[in-house]
Amino acid sequence: MPKKLVYYFGGKKADGDAAMKPLLGGKGANLAEMVNLKLPVPPGFTITTEVCTHYYKNNRKYPKELRDQVKAALSRMEREIGKKFGDKNDPLLVSVRSGARASMPGMMDTILNLGLNDETVHGLIEMTGNERFAYDSYRRFVQMYGDVVMEMRPHSKNERDPFELIIENKKRDRGVKMDTDLTAEDLKELVQEFKLEIKIRLGREFPEDPMEQINGAVDAVFNSWMNERAIVYRKLNNIPESWGTAVNVQSMVFGNMGESSGTGVAFTRDPASGENVFYGEYLMNAQGEDVVAGIRTPLTIATLNQQNPDMYSQLEKVRKALERHYKDMMDIEFTIQDGKLYILQCRVGKRTGSAAVKIAVDMVNEKLISERDAIMRIEPDQLNQLLRPIFDNVEKETAIKQGRLIAKGLNAGPGAATGRIYFNAGDAEDAAVRKEKVILVRIETSPEDIKGMNASEGILTARGGMTSHAALVARQMGKVCVAGCGDLEIDYETRELKVVRDDKCFVLKEGDWLSIDGTTGEVIEGKIHTKESEILQVLLEKSLKPEYSETFQIYDKVMSWADKYRTMKVRTNADQPDQCRNALAFGAQGIGLCRTEHMFFGGDRINAVREMILADTLAEREAALEKLFPYQKEDFLGIFREMKDLPVTIRTLDPPLHEFLPHKESEQKELATMLNKSFDDIKAKVESLHEFNPMMGHRGCRLGIVYPEITAMQARAIFSAAAEARKAGIDVKPEVMIPLVGTSSELEHQTKVVRKIAEEIMAAEDVKFEYHVGTMIEVPRAALTADEVAAAAEFFSFGTNDLTQLTMGLSRDDSGTFLPYYIEKEIIPGDPFISIDPAVASLVKMAVDKGRSVKPKLKVGICGEHGGDPRTIHFCHTANLDYVSCSPFRLPIARLSAAQAHLMYDEGRGTSNTPVKKKAKKAAVKKPAAKRTTAGKSAVKKAAVRKAAVKKAAVRKSVVKKSATRKRGR
Ligand code: ADP
Ligand code: MG
Ligand code: MG
Repeated sequence: MPKKLVYYFGGKKADGDAAMKPLLGGKGANLAEMVNLKLPVPPGFTITTEVCTHYYKNNRKYPKELRDQVKAALSRMEREIGKKFGDKNDPLLVSVRSGARASMPGMMDTILNLGLNDETVHGLIEMTGNERFAYDSYRRFVQMYGDVVMEMRPHSKNERDPFELIIENKKRDRGVKMDTDLTAEDLKELVQEFKLEIKIRLGREFPEDPMEQINGAVDAVFNSWMNERAIVYRKLNNIPESWGTAVNVQSMVFGNMGESSGTGVAFTRDPASGENVFYGEYLMNAQGEDVVAGIRTPLTIATLNQQNPDMYSQLEKVRKALERHYKDMMDIEFTIQDGKLYILQCRVGKRTGSAAVKIAVDMVNEKLISERDAIMRIEPDQLNQLLRPIFDNVEKETAIKQGRLIAKGLNAGPGAATGRIYFNAGDAEDAAVRKEKVILVRIETSPEDIKGMNASEGILTARGGMTSHAALVARQMGKVCVAGCGDLEIDYETRELKVVRDDKCFVLKEGDWLSIDGTTGEVIEGKIHTKESEILQVLLEKSLKPEYSETFQIYDKVMSWADKYRTMKVRTNADQPDQCRNALAFGAQGIGLCRTEHMFFGGDRINAVREMILADTLAEREAALEKLFPYQKEDFLGIFREMKDLPVTIRTLDPPLHEFLPHKESEQKELATMLNKSFDDIKAKVESLHEFNPMMGHRGCRLGIVYPEITAMQARAIFSAAAEARKAGIDVKPEVMIPLVGTSSELEHQTKVVRKIAEEIMAAEDVKFEYHVGTMIEVPRAALTADEVAAAAEFFSFGTNDLTQLTMGLSRDDSGTFLPYYIEKEIIPGDPFISIDPAVASLVKMAVDKGRSVKPKLKVGICGEHGGDPRTIHFCHTANLDYVSCSPFRLPIARLSAAQAHLMYDEGRGTSNTPVKKKAKKAAVKKPAAKRTTAGKSAVKKAAVRKAAVKKAAVRKSVVKKSATRKRGR
């Protein structure tokens, strides 16, 4: 039997279902699922993503079986609807819609009303008795087809859309304002004018043959997978190119048939706040994207309840059914044709971080989902949004009293943003490069604006609703957004924003300051300072009581679940007591990296440091170190007091010494005077410390080996502080970490120095405390000989910043000129300094295994920047790390990611909302697989290995194999 390339949906049962997203795309799979749920879905069929893959693998050619399968599906549609495609008496019209596995809003182009031509349009008039409607549909079709398939569209940002120009001329001629004021005759003329313009500009005829139309549209959908905006979107959202898109062909229903028809979009809950209210917008007598395009400002769903309660109750039923079935907040598209409701799409609704957290917690309370589901639902990075700033209330109120509130729009993306106005995306990007804060102000946004939106603090639009492009994309990016602010008059040419309010006229120009409140929709002239989120107010400033903040309580609940389900610990990178306090508030279970030298620049410590570096003799150096000692001890004591009985990993001196020396002549002279040395001496010494490649020069343990007295002083500071803390009743647990070790002998050398001091101090002070000496694994050689290194180490901590630099031969500080290019051209999958590179990951894994082969209980963590990256955290879990360490503000993300990793790899859970089916065969290849990083690619297998590791070595191999296949096959 030939391969199945086309899946039908309609009638009583669809060929596919929601579990088949990889094959049918999100749209196709959910259309099938809704058919199976008996919801009112117009019938159609889906051409699979495999066809897309085949198309690009074979020089844009289709599999030969495709044609017949499409024909068969089309005939089945014709039979079901009782109309024929291309029939001049009663034509079946279709939409051709793209649908990738992950939703890509606005990225791929849909064509509606396909099948119309100069003949079939008469059939449509005949059947509906509505000439205006028929020509409105026809002109939309020619316009969309001309744009998407024939590519007659503006080629620069100054050019206007050729079709819109023709429409505007027509409206001017007729002296009308709205599209809806145009008559059937006007629209009929538009169709011909459109076609003529196409002929003139492109030298080609508009295709009249419906079969040719459908083929062209299918090509266009597949081709759009590779258009620039789709590529940009994929990149921003980590969607692999290899997934491909499906194509959906679906019979049309019409929202533009008159005042008892309409179209809309809705969310089953509020996607901005997460509140459990039906939320959406619609327009009567409108079609397709009218609502989201922001051309007319739509009405709210609440209005529908008043104006058409029957309609509303049909919708409300669908809302309930969908939430009950999918157990998630859903985003739906609907069309009302002559009073009857049709659902055209459903998918899991995008939401803000706050909404994600609230919905997850609410749904657990409503017993719709479990705590585990709730954890899997929240994107860890979204937690950042909850920590985002809000306006200083006093300042904002003052601004409003002063009359600076110039307008109010829709609160489309929460948070507070203040910045300078820019009117186009390119300018916004440029300004952001200059480190300016930007508010991007647009009449409406389009997919081309994505990069500029990404570069802005906030986005303000004059048109479009809560579901407009601007709103949707902003929410996803976690940007502040105020949309549909109809009072704004925006002039792109003069670069001015005008608002007339209460007889006052405000004119703001490019570069002027503007503040927008995405939580309330307020637009305020000038700059307003922002302040911490409620969670930070509760946790850090302690200026808000937890019981007064719902946001905090919800956050706290999610964190408590995360802590319940994670097996990895989280630590923080902190150098100072106040950072420790923050970190503890965010749930740190210790310090994974304290960089002692970060305190060297404070006060006049730097002088002692310089004196130490410039010392000519051991005696001089020891005298200088003696001056540094009390500072270091005090710092460590401060940290121990904060961290109490939690482990604190302190790294001995790491950076090359000349980083601490003055390089200007004047400063060197000053230093010479202070140290009682000659300027020439100082200058010569500074020059002698110059290195061609300091990253690989005299730094890390190499310093402590050549100058053991430095390590000794630091050890003395650490352990004297520990002794003092111990005497004060704190059960301190210092861990001394030796950096940049390449050979076990280096570590042995430094360990000896450190241990000797520890024992001396314990004896002298007559106290006992627990301490450990270990190393940072950041040189590939250490990873490769980790079994030898482990013999001398009590713990490993992966310094993945240097490990990445040294493994890839890539300097983080010098890669700015080419790394972005590499990433853009996909020469490498992503920034290896953000998310761990697969090769670095395998080095880590190997080092862990080697280390534990000699010391089974070796404690292992990660302290590079990667420790706060969700994908890296997943990898760390599969590599059996004991903890990850990250900056204090990323701790909530790390806690949640660690919990997800446990649920995903140890319990085999996915993040997919695919309704759980008992017999689902292929369910294991859902979203989790997609989420898995390059590093964690074989993570399922690794998770199996993890389990297997506890079993007897003899059976290890077969267990791995079995459990790996079992997991994959589930
Ligand atoms: P996108 O992925 O950009 O949302 P869609 O394929 O969902 O694109 O279609 C764009 C618009 O056209 C949506 O408003 C959708 O509801 C509408 N639409 C698509 N197919 C049909 C159809 N068969 N009948 C009526 N409206 C349709
Ligand atoms: Mg679209
Ligand atoms: Mg859609």
